Amino acid sequence: MSDRKIVCLDPGHGPDTVNGSPDGSYKEREFTWDLYLRLRVLLEEQGIAVVGTRGEDEKPGLTDRAEVSNKAGADLFVSLHTNAAGNDGWYDPKGLMIYTSSGPITAPRNQAALDILAQARAAGIEIWGSGLAYEGYTVLTKTAAPAVLIEFGFHTNREEAELLKSEAYRDRLALAVAKGVCDFLGVTWQDTEEREDTPAPWAAEAWEKAVRAGVLDGTRPWAPLTRQELAVVLDRLGLLS
Ligand SMILES: [Zn+2]
Repeated sequence: MSDRKIVCLDPGHGPDTVNGSPDGSYKEREFTWDLYLRLRVLLEEQGIAVVGTRGEDEKPGLTDRAEVSNKAGADLFVSLHTNAAGNDGWYDPKGLMIYTSSGPITAPRNQAALDILAQARAAGIEIWGSGLAYEGYTVLTKTAAPAVLIEFGFHTNREEAELLKSEAYRDRLALAVAKGVCDFLGVTWQDTEEREDTPAPWAAEAWEKAVRAGVLDGTRPWAPLTRQELAVVLDRLGLLS
């Protein structure tokens, strides 16, 4: 059995959601999908298996989203959103905050939230208030795994809406959350350049066997496999006639 960690990512909302900035230049559903893709790549690079609650053009119900996490046996559930203040127009509140279902602070869900908040602060990301609040949202209460809902910022704040639209800020948000998730799961963060020659712990045994069997040449454990390389691997396994 692999001890590979599983994270369920929930890109909030979906195709019909109207939530966005008052000037219409920012859409929450577009942000949550984009951040999901960025986060997914970063977590997978760290050897974490990622399960998504929806496809790009889907808007499943909240219970269904929790169900995806439960079926996958996720170690952590992370719902992705941005926040709104007031009823219409621009408002002052800004900053990232995280919801969990309830206390105590020692509960795994709150420890996960604190780990993510610590990495966000270290990355210079503005935090709203203490950064942590409790709310009985369905995706937080129906998930078996520790669950957090991240509001990455207020799209009703003029400056923050601009930030949330920027690629560079999205990368910063995704990197901070990925590192916080790894801290919570006990996965040691590896910078992609430094890990060149060493496979991830969950893959180490299979990697060694594949090299010993002459199926792979033992170099570049993190490199993607091309179609021609796959053909050679299948041939070496004797699966092609
Ligand atoms: Zn939302």
